[in-house]
Amino acid sequence: MADKRITVEVVTPERSVIEKEIESLVIPASEGYLGVLPGHAPLVTGLQPGVVRMKTGGSEDRMAISGGFMEVMNDKVTIMADTAELAEEIDVERAKRAKERAEKRLRERPEGLDVARAEFALRRALARIEAVSGDE
Ligand code: ATP
Repeated sequence: MADKRITVEVVTPERSVIEKEIESLVIPASEGYLGVLPGHAPLVTGLQPGVVRMKTGGSEDRMAISGGFMEVMNDKVTIMADTAELAEEIDVERAKRAKERAEKRLRERPEGLDVARAEFALRRALARIEAVSGDE
């Protein structure tokens, strides 16, 4: 089992983000965080904003996603994300500004505010900040 691997491929409408052999991943599926190990049953699920953690040996790659779909089949995981950034690609100051904008809108609730849109922007920003900080 020790040498069992999963191939993970992450794409967005804009680019190919990563293709790599890993040992396991944890991903924010639409029903909650889901772990995928080698030998996982075939699966298609929606994704929500959050942090994907991909483990190989002692190291972990973290990536923020904003939603999309994942397919698991024959130890191949394909993540089709709306947006995806590896932790090292994230501009954390930009994410903090986005977080503050969204929090201000949700606090002040101006006339005509699209609350769901502001909440979604906040969740994207929080995922990016968490991917960089590594906090659970
Ligand atoms: P902002 O308000 O800062 O633009 P956003 O959540 O509205 O944030 P998205 O619409 O989710 O941004 O993403 C637009 C593009 O910018 C995508 O390619 C995404 O990967 C990239 N992106 C967004 N925020 C960051 C960030 N903090 N660091 C690096 N890339 C980012």
